[in-house]
Amino acid sequence: MAVPLHQQAKVAAYIAKQKIIGRKRYPLVLMLEPLFKCNLACAGCGKIDYPDPILDKRLSVQECLEAVDECGAPVVAIAGGEPLLHKEMPEIVRGILARGKIVILCTNALLLEKRVEDYEPHPNFTWDIHLDGDKDQHDWAVSQKGVYERAVKAIKSVQDKGFRVAINCTLFNNADAARTAAFFDDVTAMGVDDIMVSPGYAYERAPTQEHFLNRQKTKELFRDIFARGKGHGWKFGNSPLFLDFLAGNQTYECTPWGNPTRNIFGWQRPCYLVGEGYVKTFAELMDTTEWDKYGVGNYEKCADCMVHCGFEATAAIDAFSKPWKMVGAMLKGPKTEGPMAPEIDLSNQRPADYVFSQHVEKAMAELSHEPPPARGAKHGATAPGPKGGSGSSKVAAE
Ligand code: SF4
Ligand code: SF4
Repeated sequence: MAVPLHQQAKVAAYIAKQKIIGRKRYPLVLMLEPLFKCNLACAGCGKIDYPDPILDKRLSVQECLEAVDECGAPVVAIAGGEPLLHKEMPEIVRGILARGKIVILCTNALLLEKRVEDYEPHPNFTWDIHLDGDKDQHDWAVSQKGVYERAVKAIKSVQDKGFRVAINCTLFNNADAARTAAFFDDVTAMGVDDIMVSPGYAYERAPTQEHFLNRQKTKELFRDIFARGKGHGWKFGNSPLFLDFLAGNQTYECTPWGNPTRNIFGWQRPCYLVGEGYVKTFAELMDTTEWDKYGVGNYEKCADCMVHCGFEATAAIDAFSKPWKMVGAMLKGPKTEGPMAPEIDLSNQRPADYVFSQHVEKAMAELSHEPPPARGAKHGATAPGPKGGSGSSKVAAE
């Protein structure tokens, strides 16, 4: 396991406290999306398909820190869009670290070498670099040649400065187990601290839909990859039971409130992957979302989901309740042979609602009443968006 012990202890202490106070639902990782704009336009991205006035919006430093305080999760993952396009990102990161949180800053790394001087290494801070495979695979996933080499160069540069570095790898249905295993060998040789891996989610707004994995193919792929990795020293940032789930050995239901999402629209329900409405406060999100309407077996849009931001929290809570099970998974690694755990029945799931355009229209109407930004203003100006984004990526390099 690659996550530092002091970070594991912090999360375990937080879960223990929630159990002691009898809280039924609680967040573990705040997914903070301070902007949607990106300097890439990846084909599988479901986060950046918005009109320019929305792509130009930013959460302010104060809004970001208020979200951290309101939510209370011990870990904050900053995603987007591309967070390094936000001019005040260093201040946001410093403010979150000062609150004792663990910060994971997701980036496609195109601006990393230019911006890294604005950050300092910290035991609770990790750069999470988007790398979806080897050179050809990654450049295909991000729909642009040369990005892999720039990201690898940036990784080396920030490692030399003493930062913790993880890679964030999303696999699609054209992933090949042997190539992915070789890629994990490569990043292990680069000395990255964690490999964070997940199957992609079929965002309804992703420009291409044909490359997403269904659950059976996901499990077969991960079994094949993990079987090739035994003894290779891969250091995963994912929890051992989540990896075992990916390999088809756990029948988990998702924990959508485990990774609540705050972005420029508000708090997104029900989860980071599906946006079916927004509310103003975290308390409202937790209290008014009809959680039973979502999840695999409940909702058509959830049918193929095995994504980390839905199921890592389930695995973490399971590990806390059954530490012996987690220790077993950690020592033995994911099971790659034998029967798989039973799959969830989909026959009673409700059909998908398509509500995306409603909140975009509402936001556009609200924006039309906002005064234009002052010249040189940092927010709402044209300052130029990790997985989860198609958009008008007009920002080649800021
Ligand atoms: S199963 Fe559905 S509700 Fe749960 S995390 Fe996945 S998309 Fe979200
Ligand atoms: S936000 Fe979307 S377009 Fe930008 S790097 Fe991430 S996946 Fe690619």
